[in-house]
Amino acid sequence: MKHTENNGSDLDLIKQSLLMQKSEILNKNFEFKSQQSTLSKTSDEADAVTQELASNLSIQLHERDRHSLVLIEKALSKFANDTYGMCEACEDPIDVRRLKARPLATLCISCMEDQETLQKTTLQ
Ligand SMILES: [Zn+2]
Repeated sequence: MKHTENNGSDLDLIKQSLLMQKSEILNKNFEFKSQQSTLSKTSDEADAVTQELASNLSIQLHERDRHSLVLIEKALSKFANDTYGMCEACEDPIDVRRLKARPLATLCISCMEDQETLQKTTLQ
């Protein structure tokens, strides 16, 4: 009998989905840039306000995407180093079910809870 728990295939699926997310973000930002160049050709004053609002919103999205990209890259480099799925605090393996739900998780559940408790204590 073979154990199928925590074998390579689950991690492979996670890696594939990270690669997908990465290319989605890159494609979206490419579209965003071509939209921007079309928008900058309109010179109507009323439009300018809407345009500014829209571009502020896009920049926010853009920054969030950039942040996600950094996290995705970090996770992918862990795959390369064979350290993906290892808790950054206690170095125990993170539950694969947790990784499936949150592929960018860097802490195991107990370390995450510890950190949350710490944050709550600091805020009070
Ligand atoms: Zn841990």
